[in-house]
Order: sequence, then structure tokens, then C-alpha cells
Amino acid sequence: MKIKILQIADKCNNNCRYCLNKKDDFLVDFAKIKKEISKGASMGCEQIVFCGKEPSLFAGFIELISEARNCGYKTIQVKTNARMFAYKDFCKNILRAGLTELSVHLYAADEVLHDSLTRSKGSFRQTIAGIKNVLYYSKKFFPYNSCSVNIGIMVCPENINFLKRIVKILSRLKTGQFFFIATGAINNMVDDRTCNGLRDVKKMLEKNNITYHTVGFLKDKKDFFKPYLSEKEKKVYNLIQQK
Ligand code: SF4
Repeated sequence: MKIKILQIADKCNNNCRYCLNKKDDFLVDFAKIKKEISKGASMGCEQIVFCGKEPSLFAGFIELISEARNCGYKTIQVKTNARMFAYKDFCKNILRAGLTELSVHLYAADEVLHDSLTRSKGSFRQTIAGIKNVLYYSKKFFPYNSCSVNIGIMVCPENINFLKRIVKILSRLKTGQFFFIATGAINNMVDDRTCNGLRDVKKMLEKNNITYHTVGFLKDKKDFFKPYLSEKEKKVYNLIQQK
């Protein structure tokens, strides 16, 4: 499936220590963004992804979601910290406009750790409230669009030992699949602590049939078991991977 990705909005209401969106070439011209939306649709894209810094802060963002729906995209996704979704009116209006997927980034399942990594007091509470609002209004269907929520856990040295606990708590929200997103700091750490943390969470996810994906991990950490294979096993593993 062809996907149109638009990086809009150059501002964010968090100030994350491990922000992955530090570029400065975000689209900020409303008319240009609209044009890009229809260009993607005419090229046959069925999914559109709005990311940024924080796209929900972009003036006219709800109108852009309507535009995407009118252009015929089947999946309209936003990558967000979800803080804006804590405002019920914003949440209801964007669901009405046609949003179908929310991809939320979190660092922890408690406010002390999360807020310390976003360097924004109150961010954890707002993000959780945002997720809950989306899940609540989504269930109401008409006039609200049904919208799925995925959680992206930003894996970093501060949370590597707590991933299991984070997933356990956040899965109570009954969202969709989990994504584990590598920060640069975790990829620079090649030690037992990293591998044990990842291996632990992998076991737990599989035991509970929770769908998960990994994003941005260096090859050695992509398959969490790989560092524990013997040299002979690694060769067999590589052969299987190549097929
Ligand atoms: S919420 Fe996302 S864009 Fe905003 S500072 Fe954090 S990582 Fe960067």
C-alpha cells in the first residue's frame, strides 16, 4: 500500500530529551500542505500519515484531516503526543473530521519518569487523558469516526529496565499494537542491560499475544534473542533471515 507522509508543524508542547524530530524542514504552509494531500491521493496513496514535531498543534489541523478524508484516504494517521486530545472538543471534532489512527509516543507508565523525559510537567496525565478520550468517543461511532490507538514506547536508558511494567500497565488501556522505538541513546548501549530488558519484554508480549513491532533498532537488537545465540546458531539464523 502506498503511503503519503507529511511532516507538518515545527513546534511541540513537549521538550523530550530524546526527541527524534529535530529537523527544521517541516511543512508549515497551509495551502502547500493541502496540495500535498491531494497530490498523494492522485498518486494512489491509500494511507496518509501526519507527523511533525506535534501536528495537533498546527493551526487548521482539523481541516487538513477533513481534506484527507475528502480526498479518499482510507487510513488517516497522526503521530502525536496526544496531549491536545485531552481537550474533549478538539478530540470530538478531529474524530468527526475523519481521523482513523492515532499513534502515541510514551516513555513510561508513570508521570514521574515520563514527565522527566518529556521535560514537561503534566504531560503524562494529558497524554493518558487524550488516549482515553479517543477510545471513548471512538466507541460511540456516529458522528465520531472509529479511530484505533497504537502506543509507541520510546526505548531509552532510563526505561530499559521497566519495559515489562510499562507494557503491563499501558495494555490496561486496551489500545492496539505496541511499537518499540529506539532512541539513539539505546542503540549506543550494547550491554547486557539493554538486551535483558528487550528480551524480557519480548517474552511477556508473546506470552500475552500482544502484537508489537520494533522501529529503528540497530540490527543486533532488532531480534532481541540474537545476541544470545552461539556463533553457530547465528550463522543458521542469518541464513534463515536471507531466505
Ligand atoms: S513529543 Fe515528539 S516531537 Fe515533541 S519533543 Fe517529544 S519526541 Fe519531539
